Amino acid sequence: MSSLVDIKSLTADELKTFLTENNFKPFRAKQVEDWLKKGVLTFDEMKNLPSDLKEFLETRCYISVANIEKKLVSRYDKTVKYLFALRDGEYVESVVMSYKHGYSICVSTQVGCKMGCTFCATGKSGFSRNLTASEILAQIESAQRDLNVRISNVVLMGMGEPLDNFDNVVRFLRIVSSEQSLNIGARHITLSTCGIVPKIYELAKLNLQINLAVSLHAPNDEIREKTMPVAKAYPMDTLLKACRDYFEATGRRVTFEYALISGVNDSDADARELSQRLKGQGCHVNLIPVNSVEGTGYQKSDIKRQQSFVNILAENNIAATVRRTLGSDINASCGQLKRNFVNKEDK
Ligand code: SAH
Ligand code: SF4
Repeated sequence: MSSLVDIKSLTADELKTFLTENNFKPFRAKQVEDWLKKGVLTFDEMKNLPSDLKEFLETRCYISVANIEKKLVSRYDKTVKYLFALRDGEYVESVVMSYKHGYSICVSTQVGCKMGCTFCATGKSGFSRNLTASEILAQIESAQRDLNVRISNVVLMGMGEPLDNFDNVVRFLRIVSSEQSLNIGARHITLSTCGIVPKIYELAKLNLQINLAVSLHAPNDEIREKTMPVAKAYPMDTLLKACRDYFEATGRRVTFEYALISGVNDSDADARELSQRLKGQGCHVNLIPVNSVEGTGYQKSDIKRQQSFVNILAENNIAATVRRTLGSDINASCGQLKRNFVNKEDK
């Protein structure tokens, strides 16, 4: 028999087709959806379904889960970090942040990552597998259920490179923004990428109206290549052009992420060079003091350096903010919890 169908990764139309092709009435799709939306974890809980349909679903499908393995709550700002266990025993992390305008979740898109950025805990742990659309969704649902709140913003900035898992991520984006699912509008979703240029063009073609964030972290290729191996495949000029083209195609401004690493990319000269490179780009720069990850040797820039960097960008009319770091006491930078947890388990 063919492998089981991941029912929560189906769009509403696909679910309807799947059921009608197997001789069930189209209205059953809506009933199944309603149960899935309620967060049932077994088909047996779908009380108003006839037993033949329940049996069919049980033998042919499965429901993805993200079970809370570990939960940390920050003493300072109520940021919550989850380590979720997936169906096959793999782990991923999510972080829920509370802002004035509501709750925001940072979700993972892969178990691990192939990109190998030297400052990143996920990058240092290697790659295991892609997440399915339903596994990305399950992180939001589990957090909502646990906290008993509605999450209104999603950032794809957890473990993994979203554009390296393109089809599942796009499927997730379509499902999560649909009324049948969590109904989180595209404008409330941000996808962050390390800069896989051909995939940025592919994404632009879909015109999804999501926010795109690009991890730049350097003012030139020489520095970028030292921390981000992907820079060797896609030089900065090509990447910045892709961002301009993305803006032109979608009308959505691109944000650049720039982790300030002491002595690596945070000098005044770096700030001036970055300003020159970003002139006319119509962008916003998010400066983040790097989270130090064990074994990397990187330290965050001190406050004075951060301020000097942001001032130089401002003098050059580049919109930039130093992002406050949430959950600093719980290693809220993704990849760190899993690393600590799994390393301890190994011992
Ligand atoms: N793979 C994607 C999204 C996940 S990483 C990407 O790289 O954009 C999410 C963000 O966290 C990226 O901007 C990444 O560069 C940043 N990041 C990773 N490790 C970090 C660290 N130790 N300190 C600060 N930011 C970090
Ligand atoms: Fe992967 Fe992003 Fe980490 Fe780089 S920063 S290793 S792309 S998760």
